[in-house]
Amino acid sequence: SAAADTESVHSDTSSNGSCNSNVQVVVRVRPPNQKEKEVGYRKCVAVDLSAQSISINLMPHPRTFKFDYVADEQVDQEHIFNMVGKPITDACLQGYHCCLIAYGQTGAGKTFTMEGPTAESEASVALMPEFQQKKGLIPRILDYIFQRMAAEKSKDMEFGVKCSYLQIYNEQVADLLDPESTNLTIHEDLKAGMYVEGLQEILVSTPEVTYGVFRKGSENRHVGMTAMNQESSRSHGVFTLVVESKHNVGGVMNRRISRFYLVDLAGSERQKHSETVGIRLKEAGSINKSLSALGNVIKALVDISEGKERHVPYRDSKLTFLLKDALGGNSKCTLIANVSPADKNSEETLSTLKFAQRAKLMRNLAVVNEDMFGNPAVMGEEIKKLKLEIAALR
Ligand code: ADP
Ligand code: MG
Repeated sequence: SAAADTESVHSDTSSNGSCNSNVQVVVRVRPPNQKEKEVGYRKCVAVDLSAQSISINLMPHPRTFKFDYVADEQVDQEHIFNMVGKPITDACLQGYHCCLIAYGQTGAGKTFTMEGPTAESEASVALMPEFQQKKGLIPRILDYIFQRMAAEKSKDMEFGVKCSYLQIYNEQVADLLDPESTNLTIHEDLKAGMYVEGLQEILVSTPEVTYGVFRKGSENRHVGMTAMNQESSRSHGVFTLVVESKHNVGGVMNRRISRFYLVDLAGSERQKHSETVGIRLKEAGSINKSLSALGNVIKALVDISEGKERHVPYRDSKLTFLLKDALGGNSKCTLIANVSPADKNSEETLSTLKFAQRAKLMRNLAVVNEDMFGNPAVMGEEIKKLKLEIAALR
């Protein structure tokens, strides 16, 4: 493919384990669907693979945006994994906290990018090679994590993986792996970071089992939403992997723990006024609350990156509070903005591109999360890091 020789994203990690990097922002254009073809769809976006830019033909002002990576409709799932999924998973395995977020209007391809064609819609093809080719980022990331861990395991090197899966709907956090837990509380702990009280964490040891857990959670999400007459496009899904490695270096146990958030956001489209009455209005209001809070947090972080002093309103929504460390904090973050190619979606596409462009301007400070028990030199480093953190909080 024409993009094959492009550098993958997140290749800027320095060897000393700390990295002051921009958030990586990727745009993916999906192919036209059947309906768009039938009604005589017109393309409103053009991708320049060599410039990593995308132009939108919205009159009176056509506009061009540049990103870390831009994928057109020809770019397949494997290539998206190699360009986007693999580098951030490598960072996770090195001990960085990571976050991969799919953003975009409903129908733009968020779920296709994160998990692939869903079994509900295409159950008959689930076992065919064609389905395997269409696997999305999450199953590919799981295959890769376990494959690398198996390759690196030795008597001095051990790994462990846990996963959890939650949904934020109407500003309520529900555990998708435990349908009884529908209103959980997010807490902040200075050492452990953000955590959700009572959220099931499942110890997993193969990619198949982990993906099974994910699929089960997605099914709970789908069934629960349908039963309550709620639209799943209005919920945020957060699948989290916790990867731990223990490395025995000459009797000193070097332990790394990293968290990897895989986020399928609610549709970013503006709610139509005619639909927003009663319960729907409340839903639309709170969906807007989490997504608009995300926009506001990013705006504040961009200001800070430009040297201004700003309060970052993480606490304004469940989503931004949960992702506090991932946004502007100690984390590597990749945003995939999904867009439709059709001119009838051009306003939403423009709004997605503007959001993505803003996200590009914020900076994260990521460090490897490492404890070395019993090593006084490293304890000194830890204390230095904590002192820096305290200074930053003041
Ligand atoms: P979203 O999750 O953003 O609402 P989906 O991922 O469900 O959107 O995508 C909508 C439809 O378009 C689905 O039928 C999906 O299979 C299809 N689709 C999305 N992106 C692609 C792509 N890159 N290639 C092929 N089909 C796609
Ligand atoms: Mg979806």
